[in-house]
Amino acid sequence: MPKTHTGGCHCGKVRFQVELELDSVMSCNCSICSRRGHLLTFVPKERFELLSGEEALSDYQFGKHVIHHLFCSTCGIGAFGRGTGPNGQEMVAVNARCLDGVDLGALTIREFDGKSL
Ligand SMILES: [Zn+2]
Repeated sequence: MPKTHTGGCHCGKVRFQVELELDSVMSCNCSICSRRGHLLTFVPKERFELLSGEEALSDYQFGKHVIHHLFCSTCGIGAFGRGTGPNGQEMVAVNARCLDGVDLGALTIREFDGKSL
């Protein structure tokens, strides 16, 4: 069952809520995920609401410039990113490490070979 989670960056400027079923998360070995240590889960953008901090977000893009690797310009935390899925759907990639009150140790981590893409 999808559940409403809240989350945000470290300093508190960026806050969001998201509806998701948090059973497993993705650990990707691409150049940015391996450095950031993100545990990602993906939702259609309709299920994600930014409550505050749009103006605090900085955008980082590289490679094909298809994903917006957003981060808080004050504390540097990348709590989520925006992109478009293979089917053209606008998606949000949420960093499960930035969700409030989630027991990360209880999640199933799926390895994703993003480096080979
Ligand atoms: Zn912040």
